[in-house]
Amino acid sequence: MSFAWTEVQSRRLSELGFSLSSEAGTFATENERDLAFKKTEYILVNQAKERLNEFRSQRRRPALCEMAEKLAAKLISQGFIQVTTPIILTKSMLAKMTIDDQHALFSQVFWLDDKKCLRPMLAPNLYYVSKDLLRLWEKPVGIFEIGSCFRKESQGNNHLNEFTMLNLVEWGLPEEKRHERIAELAKVVMETAGLPNYKLEAEKSVVYGDTIDVMYNDVEVASGAMGPHFLDGKWGITTTWVGLGFGLERLVMLKNGAPNVHSMGKSLTYLDGVRLNI
Ligand code: ATP
Ligand code: MG
Repeated sequence: MSFAWTEVQSRRLSELGFSLSSEAGTFATENERDLAFKKTEYILVNQAKERLNEFRSQRRRPALCEMAEKLAAKLISQGFIQVTTPIILTKSMLAKMTIDDQHALFSQVFWLDDKKCLRPMLAPNLYYVSKDLLRLWEKPVGIFEIGSCFRKESQGNNHLNEFTMLNLVEWGLPEEKRHERIAELAKVVMETAGLPNYKLEAEKSVVYGDTIDVMYNDVEVASGAMGPHFLDGKWGITTTWVGLGFGLERLVMLKNGAPNVHSMGKSLTYLDGVRLNI
């Protein structure tokens, strides 16, 4: 007979970042298992305390904030303009993305009342401000936003209800350059994020038609799309474009080898990947 970690033990160990997939999780007696648990927990708690101390004395900012700042600085140096728009979105703006009650994403939306919701994406706001910027500025125009988006998710390691999106869009580039430009922009972001070994994959999206996904170790870190696009007319946009939306928690998770996005995202339980109940 062999004994595996109890449910409580395995939950505690995985909270502390221990990989439970290993063979080492079976023991000859309960006593042996409980001793191993105590020893492992002790080591992990001490490692976590060391990480917290290092965070306090040296880095002092969560990797998520550093990532946002590094990417913003890089995009600005490449000629992009940063915008910041409201988190609260109207139902009619959402409907213009064809996300109405028939749509799969609709059930993931957090509603504040019958006319307002928390934005599940940045695209409607970027479309909205771009109409004016394209009237006022010469093309090409490149803009980006980094901000929270909200979706009711069935959870798992790669999904948060509140996550940080970097959405960039470049308007008015030569039509034949769009694929090349998407690849170039994906490269800029992924190299700046410290994740140069990514792959591009063609995908089908319910909102955008055909899209290009940026994949890293089988995790989707971004989706890209291009226009002219059937949604453009609703926003008064008549030019070519390419755009990419990245999830910053996924980038930070992959860069830091964290087990999930929860530990690296906005959290009351974790500080920069370290569990606080240690
Ligand atoms: P997935 O299929 O993994 O749920 P998606 O295709 O629905 O993602 P997009 O709408 O393409 O997501 O959003 C762009 C990016 O935002 C994703 O590639 C991902 O990096 C990030 N993202 C989307 N939803 C979440 C979430 N709930 N938590 C964390 N990041 C997310
Ligand atoms: Mg996607």
